[in-house]
Amino acid sequence: MQFLKSLAILPLTTSAMRISELSKLTSTTEGTGQMPVLFVGHGNPMNAIENNEFTGGWRKSAESMEKPSAILCISAHWETNGTFVTSMAKPKTIHDFGGFPQKLYEFQYPAPGNPELAEEAKSLVPDGRVSLDDKWGLDHGTWSVLCQMYPDASIPVIQLSLDYNMPAQGHYDLAKELTSLRKKGVLIIGSGNLVHNLREVDWSGKHESKGFDWAIEANDKIKSLIMANDHQQLINYKKSGTAMGMAVPTPEHYLPLLYVLGLKHESEKVTFFNDKSFMGSLSMTSVLVAG
Ligand code: ZN
Repeated sequence: MQFLKSLAILPLTTSAMRISELSKLTSTTEGTGQMPVLFVGHGNPMNAIENNEFTGGWRKSAESMEKPSAILCISAHWETNGTFVTSMAKPKTIHDFGGFPQKLYEFQYPAPGNPELAEEAKSLVPDGRVSLDDKWGLDHGTWSVLCQMYPDASIPVIQLSLDYNMPAQGHYDLAKELTSLRKKGVLIIGSGNLVHNLREVDWSGKHESKGFDWAIEANDKIKSLIMANDHQQLINYKKSGTAMGMAVPTPEHYLPLLYVLGLKHESEKVTFFNDKSFMGSLSMTSVLVAG
């Protein structure tokens, strides 16, 4: 009899907890209970200190969603042996580029870190596959975009690195382990470029604001595969033809997209913005995933 009474009480307690959790979530994430996920094409680091159509697109995407409690960014510019998450309280602004004006090197994005969130991200991924890092900081793949989206630098930011030994499928699968962070107000951003071939850049000016045919073909193909939820073909991008091979000659600017797709639920809506190519072999196409 005592056992039955306990059983009767349990569901009530559980549902009461769910309701209180839900009301907390809906107050921060506008009813869907989870934050959107974002892939941004970051392009030229000068975007950090310029006002142009791309920085306008980033700002609008930030305005379209609730203010996050924290941001986790997977940047093309942090590749490591194994996967790491930044765990320092005050991440430094890393100026990881050469040949730009002095004011870009002086730029600081003093967002705080979030050691507790780093611990949580580490613990969510089984088998100790993610380690804490206290040396990195925020590289330009992160801060050149966030300084436009959230100029006051008040939201805590952590970065997750790209393990250069991991196959594409591994990145996609790892992202799925982090899904629960979306329900805690964490905005997860992948920062790279869908089409990114620096060897093929056209410096003549003929393609200043447009892409080569293969770049447009690859950009369109990636978009249509995203719309079709055909993630497997996007994971197997190396077998997806010549245009894709030209668009993704090295993986680091493409892989952040696979994190965003790994975090996407099948029924979630996708919005493309900044869907433009430039200098022939680069695209700024950005992808907002929101319930
Ligand atoms: Zn880059």
